Amino acid sequence: MLKFNELKLHEQLLINLEKAGYLTPTPIQAEAIPHLLEGSDLLGIAQTGTGKTAAFTLPMLQRLANRDFSLVPCEPRALILAPTRELASQIKESLEKYGEGLKLKYAVIFGGVGQGTQVNALRNGLDILVATPGRLLDLMNQGHCRLGKVEIFVLDEADRMLDMGFINDIRKIIPKLPTKRQTLLFSATMPNEIASLAAKLLHQPKKVEVTPPSTTVEKIDQRIIHVKKADKYQLLRKIINEEATGLTLVFTRTKHGANKIVDYLNFHRIPCAAIHGNKSQSARELALENFKAGKIKVLIATDLASRGIDVQGISHVVNYDLPVEAESYVHRIGRTARAGTEGDAISFCDETERDALKRIEKEIGLKLPAESFVGVPEAAVKSSRETVFRDPRSMPRGPRLEHKPRPDRNERTDRSERSDAPRPVRSANQSQEPKRQEDNKKPKVGFKFRNRK
Ligand code: AMP
Repeated sequence: MLKFNELKLHEQLLINLEKAGYLTPTPIQAEAIPHLLEGSDLLGIAQTGTGKTAAFTLPMLQRLANRDFSLVPCEPRALILAPTRELASQIKESLEKYGEGLKLKYAVIFGGVGQGTQVNALRNGLDILVATPGRLLDLMNQGHCRLGKVEIFVLDEADRMLDMGFINDIRKIIPKLPTKRQTLLFSATMPNEIASLAAKLLHQPKKVEVTPPSTTVEKIDQRIIHVKKADKYQLLRKIINEEATGLTLVFTRTKHGANKIVDYLNFHRIPCAAIHGNKSQSARELALENFKAGKIKVLIATDLASRGIDVQGISHVVNYDLPVEAESYVHRIGRTARAGTEGDAISFCDETERDALKRIEKEIGLKLPAESFVGVPEAAVKSSRETVFRDPRSMPRGPRLEHKPRPDRNERTDRSERSDAPRPVRSANQSQEPKRQEDNKKPKVGFKFRNRK
């Protein structure tokens, strides 16, 4: 097997790779690095988890190292565009890790936060700028960034850029780049719009393709659990408590759904957090940091917020809701089994999600093994905001209301008469709401799995 030192990489990069614990290059690294060191353009068809970040950052660091001139303020020498702030931040972290000791300067810019620090970083001069398209365009329009000195341009996760509506921003950024440059485009899939963008952008590119877009990573153990919508909370708790050996990443379709799961799990003393578009940047960063550090074992995310999440040690990905787009399924489950490890992807499927399941199985070309789950009655869970979970089977019967025929309009008592009448008092044990279980007396919950063919 090929070793990193056979790739003609800079001595310092080899030291850093050893420090990072990387023994051998991944297939995309082995294929892409030699082309990139020669200065070719590259079309990389690869999803996250394949090691593509190191595949493009290592040769970039090597080409830009040994700079013997001063940087020009606001004019970076390389530009990496990424669709989300999380991915952009992670790329910058990778640059710092792989480029330690090279004395290069990096910065990351993205929207949703103040621009002051980012503008200062640009003014101080940079070798490599990592940016999301919207904020970059904004700062360019304000005169804080010029692209005339960019020698290497990387467009990462191009298909996600398209999904997220960034394609017009990118079309505005491209003409500001010098025509003489090295260009790299990475995308997990190749929809027509990206293929035509690649044709315009790249000059005689080398094509590197790893893991065809619709093939899910082989090291992931995938299964479906058919479950009623109301039983999904219990099923999730069971998986976290009994199955998950490492970190669990849970996907929901909506932000609200993610919040409700957090309330439910917190009620059951399972530390967790949610990341989605309504959370502030700092809350998202903190949640991700705590998850990476293992301080919380469960992270609940919506598709958009999860783009670019690269966390080692995710043993389980749970699709609490099946994704509407079959392709997102592949992206979601790829968050486990990173860098050669193994992982489990468990997808819940309720009665309304059967069609989504069929589309996924068609997309991946596999019939997934399935089982079913039936929950047992459980106490209601209330948060400060609302009732998160109310199991209809566990609702205590309230006092029976006697049916009295409505009095005739003419017979009805007037308002003053009624307000004098004594109000009925409800005793504690007649309460309509089920009582919250004492925390130290958690309900004993039994679970049943049934195998399904
Ligand atoms: P990426 O596809 O760039 O998101 O990388 C996926 C994960 O693989 C990251 O956590 C990297 O740190 C890790 N990784 C990248 N290259 C290697 C390598 N050659 N050996 C082991 N792990 C790697």
